[in-house]
Amino acid sequence: MSVVLEVRGLGVRFGGIRAVDGVSFDAESNAITTIIGPNGAGKSTLFNLISGMIRPSSGKVMLRGVDLTGRPPYLMQRAGMGRSFQITNLFFELTVFENLRLAAQRLETTGRFLLPVRRSERALARVHELVERFALAPKAGELAGALSHGEQRRLEIAVALATEPSILLLDEPTQGMSHSDTADTAALIRDLARDVTILLIEHDIGVVMDISNHIVVMHQGRKLAEGAPAVVRADPAVKSAYFGH
Ligand code: ADP
Ligand code: MG
Repeated sequence: MSVVLEVRGLGVRFGGIRAVDGVSFDAESNAITTIIGPNGAGKSTLFNLISGMIRPSSGKVMLRGVDLTGRPPYLMQRAGMGRSFQITNLFFELTVFENLRLAAQRLETTGRFLLPVRRSERALARVHELVERFALAPKAGELAGALSHGEQRRLEIAVALATEPSILLLDEPTQGMSHSDTADTAALIRDLARDVTILLIEHDIGVVMDISNHIVVMHQGRKLAEGAPAVVRADPAVKSAYFGH
């Protein structure tokens, strides 16, 4: 195992509130690191800081040893940071295939030159692979807006993976899902972790305990505890702040 992502003393204030307050942790290669904590604990804000959506007022973000602190999201993405959003990031008026192709080609485009055919073909091959892996092949020609909620969430993960990230940040991928869709998504995430490092925010504690290698517990912007699932579950501070007993 090697460290893919290092977060050190990361923090931001919104007006008077320290939404994220000096949070540090590591995410190791091909493992699932999960952030848990009550609503408003600062989990999504932590993701926004790590992925460059908002600038930290303190701390550092290092990806594979490269300091990316304060870089804009597109540079973060180019450096290997992939993410999905709690609120959808899909183009509803485009097809499943088009959503994936746009994301895959974003990786290949230099910004100044037209896409060479060879690289365009690579992007296309990637799209076909993702459509199969995420069981979206029968829906490839349908508009993203016409998919079921579960399919849309699956497509979002596929879109985030299309850029071939070194780490994939997933913010509540099972939110609003049925019990069986939640179980399928958990299995899918566990399968993905064989190829990509995963940083997850998840509210379903059963899923968390089942698939996480490492858990970081947040409370009021701070890291309250971290460790293996069994360690975190047994922590008295976590019990009282999060499990409520
Ligand atoms: P979580 O994802 O753990 O539920 P959030 O990161 O969304 O928590 O929110 C943490 C705190 O920061 C909350 O008090 C929230 O109201 C506040 N917050 C989040 N985003 C903003 C923003 N853009 N402006 C002001 N306050 C914000
Ligand atoms: Mg959130």
